[in-house]
Amino acid sequence: MYLLEVLKEFVKHKKIDSLAIFVDMDGVIADYRFGEGENIKNNVQGTYLKKRPIYTTINNLKKINDEEGFDVYILSSCFFKEQADEKDEWLDKYADFIKKENRIFTYNANFESRKDAKIQVIKKKLESKKYEYAVLIDDTHDILFKGIKELGNKFLPFHVSTLID
Ligand SMILES: [Mg+2]
Repeated sequence: MYLLEVLKEFVKHKKIDSLAIFVDMDGVIADYRFGEGENIKNNVQGTYLKKRPIYTTINNLKKINDEEGFDVYILSSCFFKEQADEKDEWLDKYADFIKKENRIFTYNANFESRKDAKIQVIKKKLESKKYEYAVLIDDTHDILFKGIKELGNKFLPFHVSTLID
């Protein structure tokens, strides 16, 4: 699998033991249908529970997570607490290899501030010194650019397409 090889090469080159790998949900491991943003903003119950799992990316993440020293975290933003509960239930069903303590949900009032909130989570994790570098796999280029701007070379951005094949 391509991304696994890239990450293995990176840790070997940098001589590090562990890597934090943050993964977005919508558009990465769960189908994000066009127009669905309206249901999310309006807190329509069951929106997340009904999401179609993307098995290709989920299976590849499992392979990455199985690798020694590679810790996969879900990093997903919500408008409402009910959405985090639904996402948690969805993960139990489709990606239960991701431990409860590795599921991070942020709460934000709009689509723009949720990008900042996610970058702040990664920043805090890097400051905790548990990891020297952090990966983010997301389907939005904006947040990947934002990460580079705020976290510099400690941040490794990957678009979801790199997680396929
Ligand atoms: Mg997304």
